[in-house]
Amino acid sequence: MATPRIVIIGGGFSGLMAAYHLSHHVPEAHLTVLEPYAEWGLGLAYSTPEPVHLLNVRADRMGALAGQPGHFWAWLSTQPEGGIYAAGSFVPRCIYANYLRSLRVAIEARASLIHVVSEAVAVHPRGDTHVVTDADGKQWPADAVLIATGNPVPSSEGLLPKGSHVPEYYLLPSAWNAQGLSERIRSLRPDRPLFILGTGLTMVDSVMSLQRHGYSGRIIALSRHGHLPLPHVELDASMEMHPHIGETLMSLPPRVRLWCRAFRHAAEQVTRQGGDWRGVVDALRPYTVRLWQRLSATEKKRFFRHLFSVWNIHRHRMAPEVHAVIDAWRAEGRLALLAGRLTHVEAGPEDMRIHWVPRGKNEVQIHDVQAMLACVGPGYDMRRSRSPLFQQLLKDGVLNAHDSGYGVVLHQANSGIFMMGTPCIGASLETTAVPELRDQAANCAMAIKEYLHST
Ligand SMILES: Cc1cc2nc3c(=O)[nH]c(=O)nc-3n(C[C@H](O)[C@H](O)[C@H](O)COP(=O)(O)OP(=O)(O)OC[C@H]3O[C@@H](n4cnc5c(N)ncnc54)[C@H](O)[C@@H]3O)c2cc1C
Repeated sequence: MATPRIVIIGGGFSGLMAAYHLSHHVPEAHLTVLEPYAEWGLGLAYSTPEPVHLLNVRADRMGALAGQPGHFWAWLSTQPEGGIYAAGSFVPRCIYANYLRSLRVAIEARASLIHVVSEAVAVHPRGDTHVVTDADGKQWPADAVLIATGNPVPSSEGLLPKGSHVPEYYLLPSAWNAQGLSERIRSLRPDRPLFILGTGLTMVDSVMSLQRHGYSGRIIALSRHGHLPLPHVELDASMEMHPHIGETLMSLPPRVRLWCRAFRHAAEQVTRQGGDWRGVVDALRPYTVRLWQRLSATEKKRFFRHLFSVWNIHRHRMAPEVHAVIDAWRAEGRLALLAGRLTHVEAGPEDMRIHWVPRGKNEVQIHDVQAMLACVGPGYDMRRSRSPLFQQLLKDGVLNAHDSGYGVVLHQANSGIFMMGTPCIGASLETTAVPELRDQAANCAMAIKEYLHST
């Protein structure tokens, strides 16, 4: 083959690290990265300039290279600001972005690579190869295509209840638009609460931004379960692991309910012995994908319906210093977490009125708020995605929705299309954070190399 052409759709952490490994494994290839952000390699998570947005994984586990969890920590130790952090620190994500920039510089020095500042909207076959079309109508021929589009943006449909119409000025820019949000925060009044839809890590980031930019009013945050992510704690070696939990679950029949019971039992036992449930969650991690793959589609659906939210708050924890801020807001009565369903939103001349029904109840409650911030997290049901790319790939049968309803799967293996990261959530569950993505990026690059050599 002449120079192989590889198109990477999505230039976040996954696209960056796939490019890193491709530049080693297929050094003769030409790489095209389609990424709408002006700067590629950071993605949603690491584009934030806010120093109060911290990593939710300790520094010594955030290495971007496969098999080298300490690589980031080693890099940080050589930086001027490195001295103020320890291996167990939760470092600002904007510092992690500098680490990713240093890897990008290395890739760009080594590989033939262009960054196209545009979104991919379609992938079509052309003979034995493919052609990727971007939002500007340009076409990018590809011998191999990697889909690394990360966290699916939730559909705006369904965000507000049917029949609710809210003028734009009541909706604050999301936490991801740091500049837009900080400008709007200055115009907020302290005497009227702010409404946040969502109580997960995105809500937590938003509260950190609101605090930093001087918002002194109250916040009402609503989600279906009202669950707040739990904090990390310092674990000493004796508390850190429950080595048998993975094997215990593997030995049981693949039923979510049985696993849940065994997990609870192990966590209680560890706690009684002076340990911590976090050690049990962390010990499960090397087994999660294998356990997940044993479950039937029905059991996976059961997990997503009943346990996903509980799992997420235990598994994706917040930094202790962030938790301290959130705790203080709650203790001062400035942050109220509600569990329930938003049923109606109406806009008046100065305020908006939200109607909601508490979980397990029927009567409607009402709050008058000055504005709303949507922090609802990724939209994992790609059949409802507003991404033209996923709509086309699903319609053309290149991708199928996963049986669980979460994420997608490739219809045909070995077709020259590869996929990694969050779109694979239905197939692997653990596929969204750096410790998994760094291995996936290396594996994808190797699979692409083998595919190119076989054609
Ligand atoms: C706020 C936040 C904080 C996080 N903190 C941590 C953490 O501390 N530690 C950790 O391990 N994990 C963390 N994560 C998990 C995070 O998802 C991963 O660490 C990692 O950044 C995911 O990278 P990704 O490239 O797969 O996805 P993303 O970062 O979402 O990047 C995907 C990229 O694809 C682009 N894209 C999407 N569709 C298209 C298209 N059609 N055409 C072209 N480009 C497209 C997007 O613009 C985006 O830049 C965090 C996630 C979020 C959202």
